[in-house]
Parts: sequence; structure tokens; C-alpha cells
Amino acid sequence: MSGELLRLSGISQQYGNGATSVTALSGVDLTVHAGELVAVMGASGSGKSTLLAVAGGLSTPTAGEVVVEGTYLSDARSADVARLRRRTLGFVFQDFNLIPTLTARENVSLPLELDGWKPRRARSAADDALARVSLSDRADHFPDDLSGGQQQRVAIARAVAGPRSLILADEPTGALDSETGDTVLRMLRSRVDAGAGGILVTHDARHAAWADRIVFLRDGRVVDESSVTPLETLLGADS
Ligand code: ADP
Ligand code: MG
Repeated sequence: MSGELLRLSGISQQYGNGATSVTALSGVDLTVHAGELVAVMGASGSGKSTLLAVAGGLSTPTAGEVVVEGTYLSDARSADVARLRRRTLGFVFQDFNLIPTLTARENVSLPLELDGWKPRRARSAADDALARVSLSDRADHFPDDLSGGQQQRVAIARAVAGPRSLILADEPTGALDSETGDTVLRMLRSRVDAGAGGILVTHDARHAAWADRIVFLRDGRVVDESSVTPLETLLGADS
């Protein structure tokens, strides 16, 4: 069994040209299998968000190949990439990307409806996802009437609603208190244990400890890769 959900090979991403160009990624290889959560760590500007944008087909790399569930994005028609994004991928953006004119419930149900779900079924899946992030009582609120942490939880609910097989989360706990952050990570972990794959960008080592593997980026390159030391070991729970 392969179970390979995502393969990045030889990915480079350059922004701009000439003297002002920035190499955001350089020769990055990364594979994510079903049942695997990979944490990506690195300083600000090391290329983490660019890596997620490339992995999710939001940005076409300058070089290299992206394969999502067996589909080579470079060969796929843009409509097929868009469908893959709606159906397979769940994105948690660093800046949430909620639609201000839609309620929390509508923000979560929209991708499912765009994917052809009946509105009632999409709404009910949205309500389930909002309940999992403890936001049932905010379902009818608009993003502007929610706190930063609540907006982030709506973004997370949107990413996990429906049958997503690959969840790409960019600092998904940044605006959350530690208890809510743990709830979100537990949810992500349980989706992965149920067979999804995930990439979790974080700069909190405690959060990375929820992953199976940590990939470290520096200046757009993978500089280290390690399996995770279980949190219990770090905390000295052996005594
Ligand atoms: P991180 O998420 O690790 O902070 P990013 O992927 O956002 O890193 O950025 C990597 C590098 O690429 C940084 O030097 C950043 O300034 C640059 N960069 C990111 N997006 C753009 C863009 N749209 N245009 C030009 N440079 C960019
Ligand atoms: Mg970033």
C-alpha cells in the first residue's frame, strides 16, 4: 500500500526577477502519507507559507513537481486543480481568509456547496464542524463580529468540514489560547489518525510534538528532518 497523499519533489519557488528576486524555496522534497501529520518549523521568512501554497496548488512553483493523490498538478487542467482543492484539501490560512459577507456557518459550508453538496447537507456538516471547535453559538455571526481566536476556529472548521484527505494548516493556533489550541490540535490529530494527511506549520515545539515528523526549513531549504520525540519524554514522564 502506498497511501501517498502528497509528494513534493525538487520544489523551488522564486518571487520576482533580477536583483530584487527572492528565492523562497529551493530544492524541497516532502512526502505526506495517509495517517501522517508533518510539522514544518522554521524562522519567519524561511518559506513555510510558500510551501503550503505550493502543496495546495494555490501557487505554481518555479521548478519541481507537486503530486496530490496521484494527480500531477503541472499536468492538470485548472478546473481539475480547483476541484481537487475543494474536495481533497482543507486549508487553514495564516490570515484566516474568511469571507466577510458570509456568516460563520456559510463560510464553512460554501466549499462543500461549491463541490455540489445540497445546501441542507452542507449546512449540517458545517454545524458539525463548528461544534467541534465549540462555536455552535456563533454560527450566525459574521467574521467582523468574532474575535481573532473565533475567526481562526471558523477557518479551522472550514478546513476539516466534509471528507478532506489532506489538511494544510498555517500556524492554526496562533490566535488561540493554549487550551483552545490544544483542542484544535487534538482535532487535527484525530482526523489524521482516521486516515487523512496533514501539514502543520508552527513555531511552537509543543505543538510540533503532535506530529509524526518535523521538517525544519531555513532560507527555503529543508535543513533537518526528525521524528518527533513524544511529549512525555520531553516532560520526563518516565519517572
Ligand atoms: P514564512 O511563512 O516561513 O514566514 P514565506 O513563505 O511567507 O515564509 O516567505 C518566504 C520568503 O519569500 C520571504 O523572504 C518572503 O518575504 C518572500 N515572499 C513571500 N511571498 C512573497 C511574494 N508574494 N512576493 C515576494 N516575496 C514573497
Ligand atoms: Mg508564514
